[in-house]
Amino acid sequence: MRRQHSFALAIAMLVIAASGFRNNEKNLQITEHLLLMEDTVYKDRNGNVIRQTGNGIVEKVFVIRTTMTTLEIYGPVNQDRQDSDRGMSDSISPRQARLVKRAIKKRKYSQAHATGNLVELYPLSERKADYEYVKNDNGLGDTIKENNREYCIEIDTLGIRNEFAGPVKDPSKGGAYVDTKNMRNLIRHSHSHPSGTKTISGKECSFGQPPSLSDIKAISSVKIGVVFGRGNDTVYIYGVKGVLAVLPANKYIE
Ligand SMILES: [Zn+2]
Repeated sequence: MRRQHSFALAIAMLVIAASGFRNNEKNLQITEHLLLMEDTVYKDRNGNVIRQTGNGIVEKVFVIRTTMTTLEIYGPVNQDRQDSDRGMSDSISPRQARLVKRAIKKRKYSQAHATGNLVELYPLSERKADYEYVKNDNGLGDTIKENNREYCIEIDTLGIRNEFAGPVKDPSKGGAYVDTKNMRNLIRHSHSHPSGTKTISGKECSFGQPPSLSDIKAISSVKIGVVFGRGNDTVYIYGVKGVLAVLPANKYIE
């Protein structure tokens, strides 16, 4: 399967190179035809399927980038102690999102990809396995130790998968973390933010769910990282400039 795709894409690139970009319209059509040979799923920014090409096993899944602003993802400044490590959104405008969606609906896939507003998800088998592991935190909060630590999954450049958990932390103090390996040697990095909660003087304390600023700053060599918010069962996909996509976990693993 994979070899056929590489071959088809190589042919497409040769065709484009040989024509010296003289006939862009025609080349786009050829590329689109070859892309159609791959089974690709396109999802909107909430994780709902817009189009699926091909009929076989899904090879690639793309989602449209989020339109959620930093305020919408992280809440107002000074809302809680997580502010010191507040991240940011790398969102697109609702109009940009509509344009990409329209292109996909019209099967103009090359045009949709050219906008740079599609995010490719990790392979499905990995997404499912990642979710199974982070569910060591059952998402029900409280002070049990399993729900007050982070779970991390990394795959290195040799394809070796590592799963490990960080230290147990107190939701009223924050500071949950996992010791990541050298990002330069990784091709994937996912970790969870704990669902743990603790009520002090009537106020419920919890961990920040979206990627922290340190998470975003650390991801550069992996390019795309994933945070599973176990408290809100939400998946955040992020790059060096901030959060790119926000999906309900059940949409992320399909
Ligand atoms: Zn984190």
